[in-house]
Amino acid sequence: MNEQQLSKTLSKAQAMCSQSGSRLTDKRQRILELLLMSEVPLSAYEVADAYNRSSNTSMPPMSVYRILDFLESEQLAHKLSSTNKYVACSHITCSHGHNVPQFLICGKCQSVKEIAISKHIIDELSTQVSNAGYTLIRPQLELDCHCQRCAA
Ligand SMILES: [Zn+2]
Ligand SMILES: [Zn+2]
Ligand SMILES: [Zn+2]
Repeated sequence: MNEQQLSKTLSKAQAMCSQSGSRLTDKRQRILELLLMSEVPLSAYEVADAYNRSSNTSMPPMSVYRILDFLESEQLAHKLSSTNKYVACSHITCSHGHNVPQFLICGKCQSVKEIAISKHIIDELSTQVSNAGYTLIRPQLELDCHCQRCAA
């Protein structure tokens, strides 16, 4: 992501937060920026480390977790349950509504691609789940893959 894309994405993120009645503070924005600039998903610990290395104030892990939760609730970032790591949402600058995300995770280089699942697949899954007597809490899918570069 280049400078121009980054500043465009951050100002859209600002706008999304004020629209939902929250605020993208400097610290929150800096953490989002770290996720946006990373090629691979980052753990909360890695985020804290990158933040503290690039700033003269240090942030305690609890605050990093709170900020990551905030970014997740605003759909600016997503948490991958399979690895317990965070990625920036790849649809921040899009004008369409956010769908249920599906993550393709490359097992070789750890790169992640966020795509959307068709609604009928989610409906089907949800039906299967309720037929089994369970309630679907989080339909997000994470698939083990090899990316184009690594498969070549
Ligand atoms: Zn997303
Ligand atoms: Zn999009
Ligand atoms: Zn790969």
